[in-house]
Amino acid sequence: MSILSKLKETAICLNAGRVTMPYPFESKPVPERFRGRPIWDHVKCIGCAGCANNCPSREILINDICQEIRILHYLGRRCTYCGRCADVCPEDAITMSHEFENGTNKITDLQQRLELFMSTCQRCGRCFKGQSPLEALKMKGYRADDLANDRWVFKSTAYLPGQPILEDLTIELEG
Ligand code: SF4
Ligand code: SF4
Repeated sequence: MSILSKLKETAICLNAGRVTMPYPFESKPVPERFRGRPIWDHVKCIGCAGCANNCPSREILINDICQEIRILHYLGRRCTYCGRCADVCPEDAITMSHEFENGTNKITDLQQRLELFMSTCQRCGRCFKGQSPLEALKMKGYRADDLANDRWVFKSTAYLPGQPILEDLTIELEG
C-alpha cells in the first residue's frame, strides 16, 4: 500500500466528519410514534382493569383491598412496550412515552402504583362497573317493578333492525 493511498484514505475520513453520536451526552430524537414505557394518569383512570386484563406480559396487577379502594400496580419487568394497554384503555389514561433508557438496578424505579377510589352503588355498596351488554339492554327498557314482592322488573323489546318485533324481554331482579 503506497503512501499516496494512505493519504487519500485520510482525506476521505476527514471529509466524512463525525458519523457517531456522543451518546449518552446527546441522543437522537425518537420518531414521533415511538413506543416507550407506558405512563398512567391516575386522574383519568377509572380502575376498570381493562389494561390488566389485556396485557400479554401480565405486567399489571389489580388488588381490591376493600370495597372502595383498588390498587393498580405496573411491574415494569417484562413489559414489551406493545401499547395494548393504551389501546384498550377507555379513558386514554395510559400514554406510551418516549422513555426507553430504562436500565436500572432498582426495579422500583420503573414501577407505578395507583390507588384508585372506586365509586360504589348507593344501593348495593359494590364498586360501580361500566355497562355490560345486559345493563345496556335494560337501560333501553322501562321499569315495571313488582311492588308486592319488592322486585325490580325491567322490560325491553328485542328486535332486529328492519325486522318486525320478535318478543318482549323481561328481567326480574330481587330488590
Ligand atoms: S405496553 Fe404491553 S406489555 Fe407493557 S404493560 Fe402495556 S400491554 Fe403490558
Ligand atoms: S384500562 Fe385505563 S381506565 Fe381501565 S384500569 Fe387501565 S388505565 Fe385505568
